[in-house]
Amino acid sequence: MSAKTYKNLIGGEWVGSRSGQTFENLNPADTRDVIGVFQRSDQRDVDDAVAAAKQAFERWRLVPAPKRAEIIFRAGEILQERKEEYARQMTREMGKVIKETRGDVQEAIDTAFYMAGEGRRQFGATVPSELPSKFAMAVRVPHGVCGMITPWNFPMAIPSWKLLPALVCGNTCVIKPAEDTPLSTLNLVKALVDAGLPKGVVNVVTGFGPEAGAPIVESSDVRAMSFTGSSEVGRLVGEAAARTFKPCSLEMGGKNAIIILEDANLDLALDGVLWGAFGTTGQRCTATSRVIIQKSVYRQFADRLIYRAQRLKVGSGLDESADIGPQINQQQVETTGKYVEIGKREGARLELGGKRVTGPEYEHGWFFETTVFTEVDPGMRIAQEEIFGPVVSLIPCENFEQAIRISNRIPYGLSSAIYTRDVNRAFLAMRDIDAGITYVNAPTIGAEVHLPFGGTKATGNGHREGGMGAIDFYTQWKSIYVDYSDRLQRAQIDTGE
Ligand code: NAD
Repeated sequence: MSAKTYKNLIGGEWVGSRSGQTFENLNPADTRDVIGVFQRSDQRDVDDAVAAAKQAFERWRLVPAPKRAEIIFRAGEILQERKEEYARQMTREMGKVIKETRGDVQEAIDTAFYMAGEGRRQFGATVPSELPSKFAMAVRVPHGVCGMITPWNFPMAIPSWKLLPALVCGNTCVIKPAEDTPLSTLNLVKALVDAGLPKGVVNVVTGFGPEAGAPIVESSDVRAMSFTGSSEVGRLVGEAAARTFKPCSLEMGGKNAIIILEDANLDLALDGVLWGAFGTTGQRCTATSRVIIQKSVYRQFADRLIYRAQRLKVGSGLDESADIGPQINQQQVETTGKYVEIGKREGARLELGGKRVTGPEYEHGWFFETTVFTEVDPGMRIAQEEIFGPVVSLIPCENFEQAIRISNRIPYGLSSAIYTRDVNRAFLAMRDIDAGITYVNAPTIGAEVHLPFGGTKATGNGHREGGMGAIDFYTQWKSIYVDYSDRLQRAQIDTGE
């Protein structure tokens, strides 16, 4: 059976790319399985999508926010009805195990319900004026057309973090999903369309970054830009956005650490490291890729971790008993292999894994063994650079103070965690770790949608997704003064002195 062809959504119509070019989307657990054929878009398709979004903005911005919210709420209900179907398609499309893809769809549902509530909030401010008989307030207004570029590892959740707050605030959108996962984003948008979203309010162009992503960033009709992906591409996006003076939210890489102190509940810490390091095959921006362990418990912890990691089942994500799915593609599995070689050359001890999984059932997929390096020095490349695979580096440390220094000594600042039963140290860690997210007695992954999400240094540029952070990004302030005194009043001049 030949694979289904999926179209772009532009101005409410499902259309092919102007060039007529397409690309295939393959199952990373078995690349003989073609998920679908998708449009390979370029500048012309983006221009069409931006024009449609610009036109739709004129009507959408006038729809009362609670009415916009009703559509988003309905989309959340539709996603609930289709959760299993969309989760299974996502596992086929990008590999993570089915319980995790159910979570990915759930994150979009949670975001829909949260953002629907924002239809009746989007609080502004009223403040007293310095002049008599004058009213002063600040209201939130939408930007207009918002551009969005997303990665493949949370192919429905991340687009929902961008689309749903943008929509409830009255913006219209052009989104380019990652080339490895266009279907899950189209499924999210399909739910919005089926919920009654007017034509042109959301437009989807599928394709590759330089061809279909860059023109969105460069368009002067796109008034705000939101990007999630690698720091390398984020820098290009940020620079291009600056040239047209558009606000630009960048959510990028991480090199997240769990600190384990000697007083920690080690059983709990062990479960946390296994989930943080190997969940989503280590392909999360918040993945635990470093574990900083106090020397007195280091060896014991390493042995127990290796024992458990070895027993995690690698396999197709559709197999309910699998713990870890494949990596996303050939390039990513090669990158992981390259870092294993780098780690060995640097003098770290490879104690588990380190190569592709072999055997007939793995032959056609991008599977990599769960991999543990010990005796890692904090300055080594495997402890500094994002690997994005099932590889964890165990770093010994003397004490709490040194652990915090090691945790901070990286170019990124996304997530962090500490396991301890000492309340003072827990609070010192909350204060002193330089990261956007800190967990106490929980691993580095597991963000909830109503809190701000993002990081410091090379992880982000100061904006946040999730909760209020998103409403802040997708609106701008307009200050309004209403003078009902019937005479000219001059601020700062008519001081009454
Ligand atoms: P990537 O940077 O390779 O690609 C991200 C998106 O950018 C894709 O849609 C891609 O097509 C597009 N793109 C590529 N080149 C472009 C260009 N020149 N102009 C415009 N767009 C372009 O990242 P990825 O491999 O899809 O995702 C993995 C990365 O994403 C990791 O670094 C991970 O840490 C990061 N990530 C961050 C967060 C976060 O919220 N901080 C969340 C998930 C993933």
